[in-house]
Amino acid sequence: MSEAVYDVVIVGSGPGGYVAAVRAGQLGLRTAIVEAGPMGGVCLNVGCIPTKALLHSADLLDEVKEGKRFGVMVEGVSFDLAGAMKHKNAVVKASSDGVNFLMKKNKIEVVTGWATLTGRGQVHVKLNAGGERTLQAKHILVATGAQPRPFPGVPFDHTRVLSSTDALGLSAVPQSFMSIGAGAIGIEFASMYRAFGAEVTVVEALPRIVPNEDEEVSAELVKAFQRRGIKTMAGARVEGIDTSGEHVVVSVTGTDGKTTAITVEKLLVAIGILPNTKDIGLEAAGVTLDQRGFITTDGYMRAADGIYAVGDCVAATPWLAHKASAEGILAIEHLAGLHVTPIDYGKIAACTYCSPEIASVGLTEAKAKEQGYEVKVGKFPFSANGKARVLGQNRFGFIKIVADKQYDEILGVHMIGPRVTEMISEGGLALTHEATGESMLQTIHAHPTLYEAIGEAAHALVHGAAIHI
Ligand code: NAD
Repeated sequence: MSEAVYDVVIVGSGPGGYVAAVRAGQLGLRTAIVEAGPMGGVCLNVGCIPTKALLHSADLLDEVKEGKRFGVMVEGVSFDLAGAMKHKNAVVKASSDGVNFLMKKNKIEVVTGWATLTGRGQVHVKLNAGGERTLQAKHILVATGAQPRPFPGVPFDHTRVLSSTDALGLSAVPQSFMSIGAGAIGIEFASMYRAFGAEVTVVEALPRIVPNEDEEVSAELVKAFQRRGIKTMAGARVEGIDTSGEHVVVSVTGTDGKTTAITVEKLLVAIGILPNTKDIGLEAAGVTLDQRGFITTDGYMRAADGIYAVGDCVAATPWLAHKASAEGILAIEHLAGLHVTPIDYGKIAACTYCSPEIASVGLTEAKAKEQGYEVKVGKFPFSANGKARVLGQNRFGFIKIVADKQYDEILGVHMIGPRVTEMISEGGLALTHEATGESMLQTIHAHPTLYEAIGEAAHALVHGAAIHI
């Protein structure tokens, strides 16, 4: 029986692929999505969603322990990892079910199996249920994502040397936990396992933790982590990892040149990701991979004639779920012939859900200077914010706005503190609308809120000083 020709066949159902499928369905395109694993990809199953579920348990635990301060007496607080995992699993299941619902609603055909590009407009699928199919497509959209990168020469053993996926499934809180890498993944797990009771160390090769963030944010996080008992070693070199004993021994050379052997029960390797682009027929189909195997595309996500690529498998763009979704929508609208504009990657917000939280969008102060801007900065600490005081979360954190001194244009907004991941939207809006310090100042912020701190930082930016400090 000859197969129908799809307008688009999407390979991978993460936030790049499934969102693209929904958009394709909305535009009336005949669409199939091929997925070998559970619907929703890394983000829903072993990434963004489950980590945030566990981090919520961590935050709640910390808050309950502080109850007395607020007159809430809770005796004998203890933590049940199995309970936290149960909540996490329920959230994952509901999210994945939600994706299946969206596929049905938008008349997307879900093909469960392993896809390989086998010729122009052809996707071969080895079905999970047995057998195979070849799908004919006018367009193919590759959204195959990425996987955790192992430490060179030390494969994940999934019990002591862990990937982020492994770290989401521990059956007991380890006595000691180390993350190699202090990007979003390393920092979030460090924050989580510390709240759960582990001794935690974070080792970062670059001179500071969360190295993509503004320098002042990194420094504030070090202070906050120190108070929480998390040890951070930045500018450190991992000399070796010995897995021959019961525990893992990591030899680390610090900035003082001294090498220390640190023994840990669980070692998380969070040093970035590898693209899922091998052996799926991409090169034969005319797709170009960069040196590290990521797919190169143009601004409309075209990777080759009739082939688009989006998400973590794409080169030279941030690895973020919301970026993948935006690219998925862009690619579909482009292939459907709609008028579209390439994504401005400099205006995508990034959030890290550690305690305290971090969120940022646009240029850091240093990057803005590097790009030749004469910069002005407005800053406001949560220590002077009434709502943060109400919440008892005023010890650490601030809002920092970076602007061009000449034209007052907002270049970047950087936040560390309570619930800032929910507040960065104002920064994103400011950047996409080319807001100025003056226009942010004229946006009157409600009282008492945490986000008043943004208005205060804008006041400091424009007038050289905030009101409440
Ligand atoms: P990352 O690139 O953000 O961080 C990896 C860190 O490891 C870097 O700081 C790097 O300098 C360091 N590193 C590399 N090799 C090292 C070594 N040998 N020794 C010590 N440090 C070393 O990658 P990640 O944290 O693994 O996360 C993967 C991707 O997923 C990232 O792009 C991240 O932004 C994304 N992610 C986002 C979120 C979020 O938005 N909240 C959460 C998790 C992951």
